[in-house]
Amino acid sequence: MSQYDKKNPITLYPAPPFPKQEQSLPGAAWKMDPKPDHGEESYVGLGRLKGFRGVVTGADSGIGRAAAIALSREGADLVLSYLPDEQTDAEEVRDLLVSEGRKAILVPGDISDEQYCADLIETAVRELGGLDTLVMVAGRMESNDDILTLTTDAIDSTIKTNVYSLFWLCQAAIPHLEPGSSIVTTGSIQGAQPSPDKIDYALTKGAIGVFTAALAQQLAPKGIRVNSVSPGPVWTPLQPGSDDAETVSTFGEQAPFKRPGQPAELAAAYVHLVSPESSYTSGATITIAGGTPAF
Ligand code: NAD
Ligand code: MG
Repeated sequence: MSQYDKKNPITLYPAPPFPKQEQSLPGAAWKMDPKPDHGEESYVGLGRLKGFRGVVTGADSGIGRAAAIALSREGADLVLSYLPDEQTDAEEVRDLLVSEGRKAILVPGDISDEQYCADLIETAVRELGGLDTLVMVAGRMESNDDILTLTTDAIDSTIKTNVYSLFWLCQAAIPHLEPGSSIVTTGSIQGAQPSPDKIDYALTKGAIGVFTAALAQQLAPKGIRVNSVSPGPVWTPLQPGSDDAETVSTFGEQAPFKRPGQPAELAAAYVHLVSPESSYTSGATITIAGGTPAF
């Protein structure tokens, strides 16, 4: 079964209740039950990104892994960013893509560090012989329903990871991007509909929408497009890493499709936004939320 086979979106994937599970951040895909679908067995590429050279952040697991698999199967060579703790997940992705004949180079590090962001882009330009694609999926979420206990370190970490990194990665990448290049950010429906226990995270997701809209206009004269994917609930290690076991067991039930999305269901949106097929699309957000409205 590929992404092109007709299917019923309601019954396609597991729905809650899920087995109770928790992890510590950043969480690992290989520890999840059921295992998320990143399109390993299903994503069929059609050569839409032949010759493209990209960086994908958060590429070890979840939505970033699904985006990396899809971009690679469409023909792109990639540098994959993730945290050093996530080496097991990252090697699974690298081994898969390399076995299919594409370049996939692992560059672990912390995107809340400005120097790592610069080094990541420089490594990509050197190893891939240039850069035309920057897909930023990495993000940090830690739930806390009491602002009085939210530490400055936690606030700092969330905002630096989710927002500062976009500035640092773009500042490093833009001098290398030719017309026709594309930048994709990853927001969240939390940016418009914040949950009370995700105040710092939701704030960053709202900021990512604003960042995307402003940068798209700034880079339009250079012929560089900037767009965003805004997910609803998606079955990834972000949840057991951030929420308690009870919340994870009912995850996605509030979506009109009554289940969380799987990372594989977001991959084609990233491909579309990178591909020249979306040449007049910039400053746009694609919401993928199982029927939940964007606003
Ligand atoms: P995930 O845990 O699989 O991916 C997040 C990735 O971010 C991690 O794998 C990690 O590599 C990376 N990361 C986190 N902190 C980092 C740091 N300091 N330095 C480098 N890398 C770091 O979970 P996911 O759900 O696939 O998350 C991907 C994106 O999707 C995030 O931006 C998240 O906010 C967004 N999102 C997820 C959901 C959801 O329900 N899963 C909903 C809306 C938005
Ligand atoms: Mg991960």
